[in-house]
Amino acid sequence: MNDATDNRGPIIKFDKVVKRFGDHVVLDELDFEVQRGEKVTIIGPSGSGKSTVLRILMTLEEINGGVVYVGGEPLWHQRKGESLEPAGEQHLRQMRSHLGMVFQQFNLFPHMTVLRNLTEAPVQVLGVSKAEAKQRGMELLEMVGLTDQATKYPHQLSGGQQQRVGIARALAMRPKIMLFDEPTSALDPELVGEVLNVIRTLADEHDLTMLLVTHEMHFARQVSDRICFFDKGRIKEQGKPEEIFTAPKEARTKAFLKAVL
Ligand code: ADP
Ligand code: MG
Repeated sequence: MNDATDNRGPIIKFDKVVKRFGDHVVLDELDFEVQRGEKVTIIGPSGSGKSTVLRILMTLEEINGGVVYVGGEPLWHQRKGESLEPAGEQHLRQMRSHLGMVFQQFNLFPHMTVLRNLTEAPVQVLGVSKAEAKQRGMELLEMVGLTDQATKYPHQLSGGQQQRVGIARALAMRPKIMLFDEPTSALDPELVGEVLNVIRTLADEHDLTMLLVTHEMHFARQVSDRICFFDKGRIKEQGKPEEIFTAPKEARTKAFLKAVL
């Protein structure tokens, strides 16, 4: 695709996207857009389809209807009026390269050092030289406050440190869009803050688009341009953080916030 920064219009667009697992409709003709550089947080009850949205963007799930665009280009090839045509592996890889994802579980390569975790994909996938990948890796470790851990292995780090490496690893691929799926949910409470601080730093980067799923409502309020409340595979309500958190309109949003705040 074209460089995702060249296009006008939303960098992410879900157009009437349907996702089913068997008979279970998880996304129900979802319309959803994210603008370039926008920081959007998805909140909502368990099972409302939040992770599915992120997994579809990472092409970890296919869809049953509608179209998903990244940088103006459909994730899957399509014939007019017919079902989706599977995209070639090369197209998917290229589309995926615009996105970095951080999951609840840290998913680091256990047999590689911290620094190697950051250099492996840039060298293997992007063809960056080892020297350049190392230099960039060390810069990223500095950003997440872990330069002194470069030669350690993941199991030697705390959960909070591992997740910070996970964020650095995603950034090493220079994505235009960062996706976070409950990045602090698996952490002991005292380690949550250090990970949120790193994400907060990233949120200051004007050009980076961020789509976040979190239960950290205070944090979401601070970093988000927009909050989307998901319910049963649709956006029930969305708006600026002040609007959603202080004056929600929908009864479902009110009930959800009352339960989590
Ligand atoms: P959330 O992240 O909002 O908690 P998910 O997007 O993970 O919700 O899941 C939405 C719904 O889809 C849930 O009911 C879940 O059980 C179902 N689901 C997700 N993945 C699968 C799968 N691989 N097979 C069957 N059902 C799934
Ligand atoms: Mg989820």
